[in-house]
Amino acid sequence: MTNTRIHPIESDHDLSLDTTTSPEALYIHIPFCFHKCHYCDFYSLADQASNSRHSVFIDKLIDEMRYWANRMTLQPETIFIGGGTPTMLSVAIWQKMGQALQDIGALENVEEFTVEANPETVSTQIIHAIVEAGANRISIGSQSFQLPLLRTLERHHEPSNVKASMDIVRHEGIDNINLDMIFAIPGQTMVTLETDLETAISLEPTHLSYYGLTYEPNTALTERRRNGAIDPIDDETERNMYKWIMDRMSTTAFEHYEVSSWAAPNHSGDHPYQCRHNLMYWTNRTWLGLGPSAASHLNGQRWKNVPHLGQYLRNEPAALKVDYEAFDQDRCIGEQLMMTLRLRKGINLEWIQSQVPVGTKRRQMIDELVSQNLLATTNTHLRLTPQGLFLADSVIGELL
Ligand code: SF4
Repeated sequence: MTNTRIHPIESDHDLSLDTTTSPEALYIHIPFCFHKCHYCDFYSLADQASNSRHSVFIDKLIDEMRYWANRMTLQPETIFIGGGTPTMLSVAIWQKMGQALQDIGALENVEEFTVEANPETVSTQIIHAIVEAGANRISIGSQSFQLPLLRTLERHHEPSNVKASMDIVRHEGIDNINLDMIFAIPGQTMVTLETDLETAISLEPTHLSYYGLTYEPNTALTERRRNGAIDPIDDETERNMYKWIMDRMSTTAFEHYEVSSWAAPNHSGDHPYQCRHNLMYWTNRTWLGLGPSAASHLNGQRWKNVPHLGQYLRNEPAALKVDYEAFDQDRCIGEQLMMTLRLRKGINLEWIQSQVPVGTKRRQMIDELVSQNLLATTNTHLRLTPQGLFLADSVIGELL
């Protein structure tokens, strides 16, 4: 179906990029956490806030920023610094990173600059430094407000840390706050789910992300499940939980704009708080990723930086890439369908008609999913039906 090339590349000479290349989004991956949460498969190392590796890492990250700023126009509309735990870096390191972003001109056109925060690491000093670095949005990993559920996930914060963090963030001048939440945690009931969601709503975030717990390969949680140490939530209960979240959120003024994302309205009733950075992914735009394991998507090419801190530190920025893929037209269309169908408004029908012609295999699959009532058309868009939402990943995966 595709001519995709997947191989590690030793240098950048075969990348199809030039100085007119201008990624619309920039992602920076901070690969340190105090402790590894049991469900997490993001690349991060358990570490201490004072660890000297942070300084070595930040110098290398700045080298990488400068390398790309010399090769292309690096003036993104959105920046997202995630991880890992960006809020465990020191104030001095944040000052250095903010200065470097400014020096290369990366803040010139930025409209949304998000930093991920773990509630137990939020302090006035660190948020102040993050604001000084240019951030205007904070995403807090709250996950649940039930202590036993947090402990099942091996999250180390207390439920009360979330409101305390939001108070600090607001006091430092940022009102645009996302709360990340998880449902279908072993031991969770409909009653505790309801308490969690009501607590999250009462804290008045501008954005809510609510994901079902997934058991990723090679995580401690999956191992505990395999050993019978935890009892996962069954599929039907998980489905009921997701339905309940959607039903409850539909009674609020939040807009359900993506499978797992809700945006609050402003005082005029508009919805300016959709996550613009994630919209770059969901609409298959272009982004550059910096730091170990960070993914990039530019000019029909994707790659990932090596997911290993030692190798990241040892190698030149030109030689960090693994899993390089150059997409042909067919794969680009599949990617666009897969990402954009996550949006509740779906994907434009005119685009479907021009890019997925009648008679092609992919068009037949769309028709099949429509006949199963998993996809449906509005006057202008093709979108997931309510039934399709429950099976979003598998329905969308059929179209890649
Ligand atoms: S804090 Fe976030 S990145 Fe770090 S281990 Fe936990 S879930 Fe993963």
